[in-house]
Amino acid sequence: MSDPLVKVTDLQMYFPLTRGIIFQRQYGAVRAVDGISFEVAPGETLGIVGESGCGKSTTGRCLLRLLEPTGGSVEFDGVDVTHRDRRGLADLRRNAQMVFQDPYSSLNPRKTVGAIIAEPFVIHRMAREGDERKREVRELMDRVGLNPEHYNRYPHQFSGGQRQRIGIARAIALKPKLIVADEPVSALDVSIQAQIINLLEELRSELGLTLVVISHDLSVVRQMCDRIAVMYLGRIVESAAAQRVFDEPRHPYTGALLSAVPVPDPRIARAGEREVLSGDVPSPTAPPPGCRFHPRCPEAQARCATDEPQLRELDGGTLAACHFPLAPGAMAGDGVDTD
Ligand code: SF4
Repeated sequence: MSDPLVKVTDLQMYFPLTRGIIFQRQYGAVRAVDGISFEVAPGETLGIVGESGCGKSTTGRCLLRLLEPTGGSVEFDGVDVTHRDRRGLADLRRNAQMVFQDPYSSLNPRKTVGAIIAEPFVIHRMAREGDERKREVRELMDRVGLNPEHYNRYPHQFSGGQRQRIGIARAIALKPKLIVADEPVSALDVSIQAQIINLLEELRSELGLTLVVISHDLSVVRQMCDRIAVMYLGRIVESAAAQRVFDEPRHPYTGALLSAVPVPDPRIARAGEREVLSGDVPSPTAPPPGCRFHPRCPEAQARCATDEPQLRELDGGTLAACHFPLAPGAMAGDGVDTD
């Protein structure tokens, strides 16, 4: 197996909670990411899924060092970038780019599309001369399905899907190795979502990209990803090949998330009736003791309230953090103790 492009070890990202205006005192912390480890192989697409507030977007920002982690480490292409200063991050900044959720707010409304897509060339002092830069930007526009003739237009003159294409063109301008796409289609109409997903898939195979796709929508990661990591309250609770996660979820939380995915055929929906996730995600400032999912888990037993389950390999290669994982092929209601 090739060396991972991204290696995350025991990553923690805590945001301090403070009181007072002049003499600020810390009285707690939001544990957005609380000790997660995973790797991403070159050319792989990893999906990170979970409900809002589970820490998935914070994880993505730590990967690109847009946030400096509180603890643990992030290695990119064999180099530890966890606490590097701006200079030390130059290589990461060139080779790892982000596609943001909201194409409306991630583009400067005062700049033309040509100037926006050319930004990475300028920032990284790879500015070509006028005509050459224009030609490259036009090629990028063409590559992502935008009309190169619209080079001098402004973001407000484009639709939501087109604006996301502008963001993708900017992200691939420097031919990065890694793209982190944070909810890349959640702000778009359903009819447009598939086009953007297809575009990202095409770019991955053409450019040999490695992708990390962050989404609350399981149907998005199902289409795109080789492997899926499910997060809950700052921790990874299940990780496996994408197909396995969908066919044989082992963690009750994954099972509940899958239950929430709409099924177009009502007969299938009835046959596959499962537990529906109730309640909100508890506060990451004070996660529940034991298994963090136990207040909402349909499989919870006494032990779950006191003993924190660790991520461990189950038969079939799935990693799950659960004392009573679902039996292969079963959904909620079929928990088995394999400890
Ligand atoms: Fe549910 Fe217990 Fe497993 Fe946690 S450890 S997911 S509470 S069965």
